[in-house]
Amino acid sequence: MFIDPTGMSKEDIEIGRNEVANRKLNSNEIKTVLSALQNITDDKLTFNKKNNRIEIKEFGKGDKKEGTELIRKLINNQNTVTININIDGKYGMVGATSGATNGDVENTTNGRGTDISISLGFGHEIYTMDSKGKVSVEKLSTTDMLTHELVHTIAQVNGETSPGFNNNTPVYYTDVNGNAQIEMIPKEEYLTIFGERISKKDKGYQYPTENRLRREQKKNKRINYLKTKQIKR
Ligand SMILES: [Zn+2]
Repeated sequence: MFIDPTGMSKEDIEIGRNEVANRKLNSNEIKTVLSALQNITDDKLTFNKKNNRIEIKEFGKGDKKEGTELIRKLINNQNTVTININIDGKYGMVGATSGATNGDVENTTNGRGTDISISLGFGHEIYTMDSKGKVSVEKLSTTDMLTHELVHTIAQVNGETSPGFNNNTPVYYTDVNGNAQIEMIPKEEYLTIFGERISKKDKGYQYPTENRLRREQKKNKRINYLKTKQIKR
């Protein structure tokens, strides 16, 4: 067992900063992050003011099997996940990102793993499809964006993300007007939204996908990455 005298063990989800205003998150922003995380898991989560960490207050059981496992794994992983907000009033980033906290990007892909920071901005629009095949434009919520980023994050803390930002993987879909579209996206984005991948480090763990997590949250399937990347076929 690892004994941590400071109470700040290096195996947590911690609350980060407001990157636009360059300050600690205020109580409303902490609430936003906590409730977005809570929407992904069946466990009851709580924010511990003393150590700035998200903790599991009570184990739960329900329909969000993969999301519950995901949050537990992120809390218990040897690397720290920090969640920042990139919105201050009208100002901020569109979309969300995740990456190496200390700039050691190579460790997200080389099998070593590292600490990861997530930034949550304003939601952007994507296409989704319901169970009858009807396509709609949907604006991503904070929970939706966090769900996506946490799939990258669990692979990053294990050092198992797919390297590079080349738009080399095609996604085929039909848009709201019934036009067939093709979008070329990075492989890591494809794997995060749609793909099947098994961890070598966390032996046999099947990484979640954004769409399987969305299904647990009773949301429609995401069918593309960025509308701006679409090319008419
Ligand atoms: Zn992504």
